[in-house]
Amino acid sequence: MTPTIWEVNTDPGWMLSFLRNRCSARKLRQFACACCRENWSELSDPTSRAAVEAAERFIDDQILSEELELAWRHAARIAFQYDDERADPAMAAAYAAYSHFSPHIRGISNIWISASEEGIFEWTRACMTLFIERPHSPRPIGSYHAQQEMRRRTYADLLREVIGNPFRTMKFASDWSHDSVAQLAQAYHHQPDASIPPILADALMERGCDDAELLDHLRSPGPHVKGCWAMDWILESTRSAKESH
Ligand SMILES: [Zn+2]
Repeated sequence: MTPTIWEVNTDPGWMLSFLRNRCSARKLRQFACACCRENWSELSDPTSRAAVEAAERFIDDQILSEELELAWRHAARIAFQYDDERADPAMAAAYAAYSHFSPHIRGISNIWISASEEGIFEWTRACMTLFIERPHSPRPIGSYHAQQEMRRRTYADLLREVIGNPFRTMKFASDWSHDSVAQLAQAYHHQPDASIPPILADALMERGCDDAELLDHLRSPGPHVKGCWAMDWILESTRSAKESH
């Protein structure tokens, strides 16, 4: 893998393998949730959506692992009941919640499974793979092969949107950390709104930011998701700056 190949790659399985031990558990979890958000209309049961929402809150330390585990159990139970096109998206939603809680949980097959970094990686991959390889589609386009190619492209783009450029060394200058920047990043995090990223780019420039890759991404049409690498990095950086004062 090279930076150029990363930018144009359309094999999200390979890209994800490259990220093993190279990205944080937080980003992997956000990617699993983003995969589910990408297929939100297909998560027809409220328990599936609730599991993803619980996983998102868990990433933000808003709920305890016990609450997430409960949401996962409900979602997994529903997923096992399906024997039709709803089964794979429902199971993927359960996977997105699965392994988030620690240190050990009793798994589906009643085996104690570690929620280690490796576990998070594997279940994130399982979540994405279910969406890519599921046999059914409510919107069949062309052959199954063509449909899979299209899906792989979608998840490769989604992976770039959440992870960013893994070869890039990012440095958030203290001058950029300002209430206006922090508030915009917070607002987007709570309610992703496409109008916010370009406004945030302007706010950062006013603070002296000249990071072209960051500014270009914020001004790009996206689509930006919850967990967008740029928005999330700004959020985390402004939080850290506030805590250190
Ligand atoms: Zn983005």
